[in-house]
Amino acid sequence: MNNHFKVAVVGGGASGLFAAAGLVFRGFSGSDILVLERNDRVGKKLLATGNGQGNLTNVNMGKEFYHGNAEIISAFTEGLKDFDLKSRFYSLGVPLVSDEEGRVYPASKQAGAVLDALRGYLSKNGVNIVTGFRVEKIRKENGAFALFTENGVYYSDRAVLAFGGASGRGFGTDGSSYVLAESFGHKKTPLFPSLVQIKTETDRIRPLKGIKTDAIVTVSDGEKRIKTEKGDLLFTDYGVSGSAVFKASGYLAWLNDPYVIIGFLPDFSEKEIERIISDKMRLDFIEREEILSGLTNRIIGRTVYKYSSDKSPKSLAHALKNFKLKVTGNTGFNNAQVTKGGIDGKGINPETFESKYSDGLYIVGEALDVDGDCGGYNLTFAFYSGDKAAEDIIKKASKR
Ligand SMILES: Cc1cc2nc3c(=O)[nH]c(=O)nc-3n(C[C@H](O)[C@H](O)[C@H](O)COP(=O)(O)OP(=O)(O)OC[C@H]3O[C@@H](n4cnc5c(N)ncnc54)[C@H](O)[C@@H]3O)c2cc1C
Repeated sequence: MNNHFKVAVVGGGASGLFAAAGLVFRGFSGSDILVLERNDRVGKKLLATGNGQGNLTNVNMGKEFYHGNAEIISAFTEGLKDFDLKSRFYSLGVPLVSDEEGRVYPASKQAGAVLDALRGYLSKNGVNIVTGFRVEKIRKENGAFALFTENGVYYSDRAVLAFGGASGRGFGTDGSSYVLAESFGHKKTPLFPSLVQIKTETDRIRPLKGIKTDAIVTVSDGEKRIKTEKGDLLFTDYGVSGSAVFKASGYLAWLNDPYVIIGFLPDFSEKEIERIISDKMRLDFIEREEILSGLTNRIIGRTVYKYSSDKSPKSLAHALKNFKLKVTGNTGFNNAQVTKGGIDGKGINPETFESKYSDGLYIVGEALDVDGDCGGYNLTFAFYSGDKAAEDIIKKASKR
């Protein structure tokens, strides 16, 4: 293999594979592209997405689902109007379907189908993929990028940094690769694990361990309510988990006085619950401590009853809708699906993802200070940014 390429992509994840595919799609020769992936194979994380089903995007898109650099998010959500992910995947042989919540998956509901298609497309078109070696350093030498690995030095005219964030060490993303961008003068914003389990005070919830229920989860900073999410909730020995918790977790970043407020019985209003409790109180065969059983899980009912200020229908209904737990942390980057924060967007052209500090250097995907909500939003940004970098590379190459 020749060791000088027109484009080198660092990281064979969602954004890196899409950058390489975007180049080939626009007529670039695969033999001019090199993908360097530290894992023994590309796309390991992609396989795990959406519980193995691959939640690739969402029919509901907009700025409100993203956090981080406002300029990049604005340009991206505008640009999505001309980015037809559905037909792009169709042309790769992967038709997409959406569910009632707007989440979009491959029709087979197998993330593996997406990886197979991308890998097949790249290899059929002769893209060079080198796995098992981490890019340890990059610098510019005589106008080319020199990429240092344990397998030797590779050179390229342009480089796309698609090394992901700091979450999911087992997928090759341990946060050690930000230095590659920092060595060109890029700055990193503070990092925080998002889409992650939440650690809370545990005394009151000890009896609830293992109970799963539908709930509304609100994140608050003291009394100020920040974000509310609906879904399932699981009590654990460290705090709470489940889809509603995951979705709300990123909103805890950098709060001074963080709490989660659990609203049980999402399908009932507080007033309706108060009325039901009043009616139940007239039934003299029901023990007072059991008054909430039948309405909610028995152990949840007893716990809420125990900690409710007075035992009137009004207070009990309020307690069921506002079970407040002090947050003590989260289960960390290793368990998080996404990293909040990353390479500061100020150093990036928001339209092309090219570095403002080094011509021909591109930074895409989760490596950047952009993160999305749960529901396909992170992969969408990864695919889009990888593809935009490819588009710009082609545009500039044709002008030379
Ligand atoms: C369990 C799980 C489930 C998820 N489910 C979903 C979902 O359903 N929908 C959704 O939208 N998002 C989901 N996400 C988030 C989504 O997968 C990521 O946001 C997305 O993959 C980011 O793409 P990326 O290309 O920027 O980074 P990644 O996909 O993380 O890829 C980065 C790649 O770079 C490689 N790498 C890093 N450093 C180097 C280096 N120095 N040299 C060589 N290679 C390097 C890594 O090994 C990795 O393969 C999930 C995440 C996890 C962990």
